[in-house]
Amino acid sequence: MKTLQQLRDSVDQVLWKYEIKQRDANIKLTAKYRDELQDVYKDWLEEFLVELDDEDDKQEYVAAALLLLGRRLKELQRTRLLEAFNVGLAGDPASPEALGELARHIREQEEYIDSSLLPHLEEHFLNRLDELEEIGQEAFEESLLKRAYRVGKYAGGFWGALQGAQVWISQDNRVCTWVSLDDPATCVDCAEYHMKEFTKATLPTLPGGDVQCDGSCRCLLIFEGILEIWPYQGGP
Ligand SMILES: [Zn+2]
Repeated sequence: MKTLQQLRDSVDQVLWKYEIKQRDANIKLTAKYRDELQDVYKDWLEEFLVELDDEDDKQEYVAAALLLLGRRLKELQRTRLLEAFNVGLAGDPASPEALGELARHIREQEEYIDSSLLPHLEEHFLNRLDELEEIGQEAFEESLLKRAYRVGKYAGGFWGALQGAQVWISQDNRVCTWVSLDDPATCVDCAEYHMKEFTKATLPTLPGGDVQCDGSCRCLLIFEGILEIWPYQGGP
């Protein structure tokens, strides 16, 4: 017969493996969403380039086309962030407050698209258009295509909804610990938050949020009960 400690160890092993599996599955889901965001951009860019030649007022056309891009990105974002929230709930019931937090999170991501991404792309596109004769069509298109990278950063909002779900349904005083992978790919912000304890009120941002690794963040918010078995030191 197993001793109590052995039993506890084996239960811990199962939970531990489950957590690792879930984390890896979520990292894959986030990567898939990053690809989707970039595909929306690439498809849009293809249409944009076809029509660009026919447009007399290029500046106006760029502005209008970017509004369309923003709309498409937001549509995808709303669908996927809700899905991420559901995965993050892991079967726990959503409260009205949590749904409110999710709505705020989605709105915040939309505001970033409007206030950061679209103006950035507009400036980039207009600058490249100015140089078009000088650099040639191929370099022009290549330069615009490379901006897909920037669009992909919005995958951080997905990771945030995954990690935020449990925070949003939790009591105000419930403590969670920010756990990074603490490896060379961990950014300076995440390294600073690593192993620090927060509550809903003191959490500086969500993983994948206001951190330098953006959509590549793999940090978790771990609540009591799980942290004790979390292999944050020397884990796989
Ligand atoms: Zn991180």
